[in-house]
Amino acid sequence: MRQPSAHTHTWYHDTATPAPEYPRLQGRETADVVVLGAGLTGLSAALELAQAGLKVIVLEARRVGWGASGRNGGQVIFGYSCDQSKIAALVGIEDSRRLFDWSLEGVRLVRERIATHGIDAHWRDGHAHVAIKPRHIDELKAWQRDLAENYGYDVAWWDREQLQAVVPSPRYIGALHDPQSGHLHPLNYTLGVARAAVAAGVRIFENTEVTALDRGARPVLRCTQGEVQADFVVLAGNALVHGIAPELDSKIMPVGTYVGATEPLGEARARPDPQRHGRRRRQLGAGLFPPQRRPPPVVRRPRKLFHPAPAQPGRHDDAAHDPRVSAAQGR
Ligand SMILES: Cc1cc2nc3c(=O)[nH]c(=O)nc-3n(C[C@H](O)[C@H](O)[C@H](O)COP(=O)(O)OP(=O)(O)OC[C@H]3O[C@@H](n4cnc5c(N)ncnc54)[C@H](O)[C@@H]3O)c2cc1C
Repeated sequence: MRQPSAHTHTWYHDTATPAPEYPRLQGRETADVVVLGAGLTGLSAALELAQAGLKVIVLEARRVGWGASGRNGGQVIFGYSCDQSKIAALVGIEDSRRLFDWSLEGVRLVRERIATHGIDAHWRDGHAHVAIKPRHIDELKAWQRDLAENYGYDVAWWDREQLQAVVPSPRYIGALHDPQSGHLHPLNYTLGVARAAVAAGVRIFENTEVTALDRGARPVLRCTQGEVQADFVVLAGNALVHGIAPELDSKIMPVGTYVGATEPLGEARARPDPQRHGRRRRQLGAGLFPPQRRPPPVVRRPRKLFHPAPAQPGRHDDAAHDPRVSAAQGR
């Protein structure tokens, strides 16, 4: 039998609210819906379905929030990772509006869940898209107009002085500020959604890797020491699921993404320094690199920036190590 998994060792893990360990599946169970994966996709589906009165079981190969949900950048932002105008060009303005509203609903839902379920998610209001070159100012202002005219969404323009009152760096020369978006502690939020799902009647099994899916009128998810039969299956394994549904395998490609956080830099180093533009209160960086390209040195040497506290018993620890995602901590 495989050793119980633990969480990968990150700053989030070191600062996580202690969470219960859920049991390993042993034997045969039935449900209305069985969900593969206890990340935000699987847990959100489970929570909503349980609140609608269905009997739901979640099967997680490692720990709740072990995947991207427990170690992402924590940014909860309106829209998508490209300009809405690009989406409108692809799908038309009506569907683009629907997609945009959907993204706003996502932000609202996260805020609501934190409040309703009392999740200690370290929520911070506000997000700014910043300009570092004069042409960025034109682009951001065009985006601001597009959001107001085509999507009815107002974001504020901050000139250099307003921005520097918040981020005292001469590098940034203007910004679009959205007070609705924000930042959270992704592992705490995911653990909180799991707790809410359990309170709604969901059963979660950790250290329970699904090894096969039997399709049919009553599909079955098979694990090494048990199985769950249900009316519906939700596959929420993200890019980590392999060999369960061949039609998904062909859609997954290896890409490394990275998030790094420093120790607090202290007031002296946070003050703007005309000789050294890059200094800020805390460095937080993220990037996306295709496998054939190496990340920049600051990402390759994160340990120089980040000295986590030692792991504590009962907390999520660094035993399980999947090279496909371990790059997320720069290891
Ligand atoms: C470095 C990084 C930074 C990011 N930053 C942001 C951000 O700032 N804002 C934002 O909105 N999004 C961000 N994202 C994206 C976001 O984290 C993901 O879109 C989201 O977490 C995906 O959730 P998920 O539940 O689909 O997948 P995951 O959280 O990856 O969960 C999938 C789960 O399925 C389990 N699993 C897989 N196979 C099996 C199996 N066979 N049996 C049982 N369980 C299985 C895994 O163990 C895992 O726990 C970031 C992602 C990364 C990697």
